[in-house]
Amino acid sequence: RFDKDFGQHILKNPGISDAIVEKAYLKPTDVVLEVGPGTGNITVRALEKARKVIAVELDPRMGAEVTKRVQGTPLAKKLEVILGDVIKMPELPPCDALISNTPYQISSPLIFKMLAMPNPPRVAVLMFQREFAKRLVAQPGDALYSRLSVNVNFWATCRHIMKVGKQNFKPPPKVESDVVRIEPLLGSARPNIAFEEFDGLLRIAFNRKNKTLRAGFNQKEVLAMCERNYKVYCSLNNIAIDETVDDASVKDVTSMEMELDGDEDGGDDDGMDEDDEDMPVFFKEVEDSSAAKDTKTPSRHPKSRVALVVRAKVEKVLTGTDLADKRARQCDQTDFLKLLLAFHEEGIHFS
Ligand code: SAM
Repeated sequence: RFDKDFGQHILKNPGISDAIVEKAYLKPTDVVLEVGPGTGNITVRALEKARKVIAVELDPRMGAEVTKRVQGTPLAKKLEVILGDVIKMPELPPCDALISNTPYQISSPLIFKMLAMPNPPRVAVLMFQREFAKRLVAQPGDALYSRLSVNVNFWATCRHIMKVGKQNFKPPPKVESDVVRIEPLLGSARPNIAFEEFDGLLRIAFNRKNKTLRAGFNQKEVLAMCERNYKVYCSLNNIAIDETVDDASVKDVTSMEMELDGDEDGGDDDGMDEDDEDMPVFFKEVEDSSAAKDTKTPSRHPKSRVALVVRAKVEKVLTGTDLADKRARQCDQTDFLKLLLAFHEEGIHFS
């Protein structure tokens, strides 16, 4: 009856549905967004407390169930069911609170979608698989520290609320779960930078989180992207392609060519960083040329002045911030922000 492909693990313990809604501290004026109402166990409780619940459900059978559950009651007029995939919605509907017994397949995209909202909800109370919940609260140096951890703690505060054993679901999932409360920073407390910029920088840094940032930012594809974006930035802002970088530093970076492509930075990179799966396309399309594997043979000579300028700027930012030899797994959000602002200062952008 329940479809595992849709992550359908229905909460059978009413105490947990109660706790999820209670921990959102809903006000009678609130609009609540619930992702995946299923048969409506959490939905009915939220409807009792809030002005309105918008429930987005992928499975039409479940959409019909939750509608039927409140039919003929005063709660019916407060419920709006939207059938569809919440991740495919261009934007999440505006809301004061987000609640979900999250279908595990969409844990990561759902969080990113919420954090990227210009006006995110005041609070999100979300159930996740335990491993995923641990990634949310991981700190620099922890094995589970990732691009997700940095983003969540940069754009929000996140607290663990309770553990939920698998026996509380029907059918029981394979792993244990946790409920977390995320409070996005709002208004003037929200960092005044574009989400895509900060996240774009983190994608590069965490692509190989065990390598040095210098190695990460000197990957051929990263430099090519920086160059493309730098040209766009210059043309949009009517800036002549920067000649401020002196020839000496351009020469310096030319002589560093290719030294960075090998593993000589001593990283214990196993190529298994957890963020690999959602790398931007430019990382996926790359195929190592055999020459690029030979660290002694310079195989990559930037052809244009702008490529050399960008390369010199990247080096200037990395050494100027003192972060060139640090690895993403050791950096905290202040380091990443410092790095982003220094790149912006040089006209280099990531989105
Ligand atoms: N809220 C219910 C409860 O706690 O008993 C059901 C939770 S169940 C873990 C997840 C629900 O999300 C299912 O009803 C499933 O059909 C729905 N779902 C799965 N993927 C979805 C998606 N991409 N967008 C919206 N709903 C989705």
